[in-house]
Amino acid sequence: PSFAELGVHPSICEAAATMNFKAPTPIQAQAIPEALAGCDVIGLAQTGSGKTAAFSIPILHALWDDPQPLFAAILAPTRELAYQIAQQIEALGSVIGVRCATIVGGMDMMTQSIALSKRPHIVVATPGRLQDHLENTKGFSLRNLKYLVMDEADRLLDMDFGPVIDKLLQAIPRERRTMLFSATMTTKVAKLQRASLKNPVRVEV
Ligand code: AMP
Repeated sequence: PSFAELGVHPSICEAAATMNFKAPTPIQAQAIPEALAGCDVIGLAQTGSGKTAAFSIPILHALWDDPQPLFAAILAPTRELAYQIAQQIEALGSVIGVRCATIVGGMDMMTQSIALSKRPHIVVATPGRLQDHLENTKGFSLRNLKYLVMDEADRLLDMDFGPVIDKLLQAIPRERRTMLFSATMTTKVAKLQRASLKNPVRVEV
């Protein structure tokens, strides 16, 4: 199928074409229709499978219909991965004027607070620093969040982000869509899945 045949908005299909994404990868072909239909998704996929666009395209599609600030948060285990995800979202979402903030450890808190005060649509973050802003940045909250993504969940948990993710989940509405991507299904990932996803559809490549 093409992205259009999966039900993706024409503007986002065009952006994908501009990036030379000629057809959806297998993980995209499986995950995108389920996410567009409103299901929570658990994706078992490695880096290189096209998993970033598999969760980003449905979020951008939903954002097109309802462009609200702090619409989605994406948790990633490392700074490098967070920047890569943000870069891909900005490329796919530039046609719809998406505003994306990257909130990672080791960078200046004040600069990030200013970025958050500009009400981005999407925040891509490492968990510890996002929690730090929830506690310390005045006026910043995730109370209106519609989508949560946990990318490379196995690595997030290996890096002991479990407790801070539990805290973040307390600050995020229960009424939301959640997508979890992981290279492997471990006991810890299964536990996080049970704590955070509702009747997820499992897709695997
Ligand atoms: P990821 O698995 O998300 O890290 O993606 C791996 C690489 O595949 C990235 O450089 C993407 O730009 C690229 N990519 C993602 N989706 C597609 C697609 N449908 N067609 C061609 N390349 C893609």
